Amino acid sequence: MQPQPSRRAICPRRVAALACMTALTLAVSTSAGNGRLSPATSAAGAGSGGVRNVLSRTTAHAPCLISSSREVQMSEGIPTSSGYARSTGTVRALTLMIDFSDAPGEGDALDRYREFFPKTQEWFRTSSYGRLDYRPEIPIPDWLRMPKSFRAYGIERGAPFDPGYRNLVRDIVAAADPKVNFQDYDLLNVLVTPNAGPSALDTVLSVTFAGNTQAPTADGVPVANASFVYSRQDDGSGTYGQTGYRVLPHENGHVFGLPDLYTAEGGGAVGHWDIMSEDWGANNDFLAWHKWKLGWLDASQVHCAAEAGTRDYALTPLARPGGPKLVFIPLDDRTGYAVEVRTRAGNDEAVCRPGVLIYKVDANVDTGMGPIKVYDARRESGGCTRSPNVHAELSDAPFRKGQTFIDREARIRVTVVSEPDPASEADAEPAADPATGTRPAADDHYRVRVSRDEPLDD
Ligand SMILES: [Zn+2]
Repeated sequence: MQPQPSRRAICPRRVAALACMTALTLAVSTSAGNGRLSPATSAAGAGSGGVRNVLSRTTAHAPCLISSSREVQMSEGIPTSSGYARSTGTVRALTLMIDFSDAPGEGDALDRYREFFPKTQEWFRTSSYGRLDYRPEIPIPDWLRMPKSFRAYGIERGAPFDPGYRNLVRDIVAAADPKVNFQDYDLLNVLVTPNAGPSALDTVLSVTFAGNTQAPTADGVPVANASFVYSRQDDGSGTYGQTGYRVLPHENGHVFGLPDLYTAEGGGAVGHWDIMSEDWGANNDFLAWHKWKLGWLDASQVHCAAEAGTRDYALTPLARPGGPKLVFIPLDDRTGYAVEVRTRAGNDEAVCRPGVLIYKVDANVDTGMGPIKVYDARRESGGCTRSPNVHAELSDAPFRKGQTFIDREARIRVTVVSEPDPASEADAEPAADPATGTRPAADDHYRVRVSRDEPLDD
């Protein structure tokens, strides 16, 4: 394994940033106190509140709509609370490149833009099966000079919204307003000139303020969902050109209401199975839970296994469009187990052991505190990945044919009954039907057997 400087460098610092953000929002939201700030309006504009992510469900899914029973800043609960940017249909991302007198933009501002686009919109198109039509827009294709020096804003790792970011957002709005109608956009990306602040290998400043209706307003709407990207986030392997953009889909994940899945200890809870866990290194997708939460899975693709007894479910690889994707086994009204199939395809480039991924979701655990935990079918194996900056131990977490996950206390058992034969698995990307975009899926099914409240005597 190569040295992995950014794993330790990135995680705790990101957590520090969010912790401070929590303190901030609590401070300005004394009445609500949940730190997420209830939306004041339902207007459009830079991601202001009111637009719920479109969740596809039936009455059969009701037991699987877990929610938090206490105040958390960003919850894994379904459906996502209002106030975040919507995550389906056409989403217009106002993208501004800013610089400062003490950190003047070097070269063309559009080169900074091209570090993230079109990769970010392609990433979302692939992950959402075409349901998120992400439109980055650059009404000001030059560096937008801020009136104060970078130093004067006092932006450091973990800087809260007040006063530095409030001042920065105000100045961005003032500078851009003559050429921008903020009502036209769903979210704001601020791509800061990379020479402002420290290298990402030393400190990660990139941060998102999501659902923040206390933010300064522009054209009558609060700049409520804004992602700020600094520096160049290399994973230490010299692959910035291929993977450096991934900080932006991660930050935009917050704008859509998703919490951080890494913790102060790093990526050990979820590993490389979601971009909200590890956004550096090789490309990887969202978990199926997040795809349902974001409105990218139909109700027919999600099975809610709430009833006692034993039942088999078919699952198709998450990276491929169409077919059943998620079995959720609710434990109570705030937690449950999720079961999905991950293979090396689509955004999942680093998968080295395809199979059935099983994880627990807890809507009461806050962002950065470990709201999701992946179960490792091969504990203390060291993992199977050779990709740098991928949490190695969990890289071989998926369960394979014949393997069983058991929660004795909850009397739940999940067994992988069958998996595609290796020949069809090796042919991981059959040609899509050009007319429909769908791929033949006859032989890519995994079968899982879920038992609830049955004897677990073996
Ligand atoms: Zn984050």
